[in-house]
Amino acid sequence: MKCVTCNHGKAKPGLVTVTLERDESIVIIKKVPAEVCDNCGEYYLSDNITAQVLQRAEIAIDNGAEVEIMRYAAYKNYIFSER
Ligand SMILES: [Zn+2]
Repeated sequence: MKCVTCNHGKAKPGLVTVTLERDESIVIIKKVPAEVCDNCGEYYLSDNITAQVLQRAEIAIDNGAEVEIMRYAAYKNYIFSER
């Protein structure tokens, strides 16, 4: 996949740290699988992963977290065990 941000690099599978901010809350999710540009570092998440990242952020914000740091992999296990 060609990077649409810099138009030069190629996006390759990798792990990124996603930071989401809403109001007073900051949610940081580490080791999220993504396509990462080898030129500019821009990353692209699949729809499925974006949905999971946003869902996890919503839960943390609803719980009143000001700063929440988590790992994506741990969340996946959590989903499987809860459902
Ligand atoms: Zn790029």
